[in-house]
Amino acid sequence: MTEPQRTPEADRLANFSSGPAVLPVEVLADIQADLLALPGVGSSILEISHRSLAFDRILEETVADLRGLLGVGDSHDVLFLQGGASLQFSMVPMNLLRGTGRTADYLITGTWGATAIKEARKEGAVHVAWDGAATGHDRLPARGEIHLSTDPAYVYMTSNETIQGVQWPAEPAVGSAPLVCDASSDFLSRPLDVSRYGILYACAQKNAGIAGVTVVIIRRDLLGRSPDGLPAMLDYRTHVTGGSRANTPPVFAIYVLGKVCRWVRDAMGGLEGMARHNAAKAKLLYDVLDGSAGFYAGHAHPECRSMMNVTFRLPTEDLEKAFVAGAARRGLVELKGHRSVGGIRASIYNAMPLPAVVALRDHMLEFQAAHGHPAAHGGQTAQHPTAGAAARSG
Ligand SMILES: *Cc1c(COP(=O)(O)O)cnc(C)c1O
Repeated sequence: MTEPQRTPEADRLANFSSGPAVLPVEVLADIQADLLALPGVGSSILEISHRSLAFDRILEETVADLRGLLGVGDSHDVLFLQGGASLQFSMVPMNLLRGTGRTADYLITGTWGATAIKEARKEGAVHVAWDGAATGHDRLPARGEIHLSTDPAYVYMTSNETIQGVQWPAEPAVGSAPLVCDASSDFLSRPLDVSRYGILYACAQKNAGIAGVTVVIIRRDLLGRSPDGLPAMLDYRTHVTGGSRANTPPVFAIYVLGKVCRWVRDAMGGLEGMARHNAAKAKLLYDVLDGSAGFYAGHAHPECRSMMNVTFRLPTEDLEKAFVAGAARRGLVELKGHRSVGGIRASIYNAMPLPAVVALRDHMLEFQAAHGHPAAHGGQTAQHPTAGAAARSG
């Protein structure tokens, strides 16, 4: 008997990492096939000039595909920048707040929003329009809890807080101020009305590709607000004028982003199809939480649960360790939660295949059957001395 041929695909684990995160296997295979020589070019994508016709075509096609997928009109520019989502924490207030004498309003629904406002404080006046810190960022503001300032320069939000697993189901009402959104961890996961945003940005390495490129979609009239004297590379106008090629862009990351866009469009049914797929995956896990009699205690309130990052705790930290170790034995990896929240985080981005989520669901059910004492624990969190658990029980 001959050994069955092992394929690299068979060696792949179910990778629940929060980012950089799983990529569609079709995209990886496609990249591999063209890596030595791009068809019709004769050199690798890793070797060609960012001023070459071949790269022009890749960049323009990627912009066009993003515009098509998201329905971005002429009112907005689509830019590919470097410095990650984190640089946008600074670029947004540098360009829209510095020197205006106005105030920027921030909605803080988790760690990333809290990080962003620190950078804004360096550029001008900020106002916390809402902050969920008091309950460990486990929910969104209720109607009437958002307090905007008068005529803010912009209102800032994070559509999906990757660490806490809290996602806005829709944009908050913020009046006529430009809405600025960090969409890093749910970009391309569902349809979105881009016309409602002043700036929408996302690093690629969660849901749209690999680290190195950050997509910034900016309303053209906002470009007039950038103060003169900004460092050229931190001024959005430089990148608009330069067509995202003011200097050498991350050629490979843009190429991968283009491949992922076409995968979403052609293999997944566009953003509508993607949203259905993501909701089905998330439901598998949240149904287990809801049916576990408190054995699995979700961090986020049900109405703002993330479709991308499912966060929950078990009755004790020892059980959480055993859960993660047992999962790894089944090929389900990167499930440990962020240290600030603790517990478990399953990131189930666009490219996470349904069978992997089914396998995690099965692990959860079997683990509770083996270790669960629902009557004894019943949603208790007192064994957890960490901030997240203390906040949740409050
Ligand atoms: C990952 C992440 C960031 C940070 O992205 P970098 O590219 O590492 O700077 C910012 N915001 C959100 C919502 C994220 O998920």
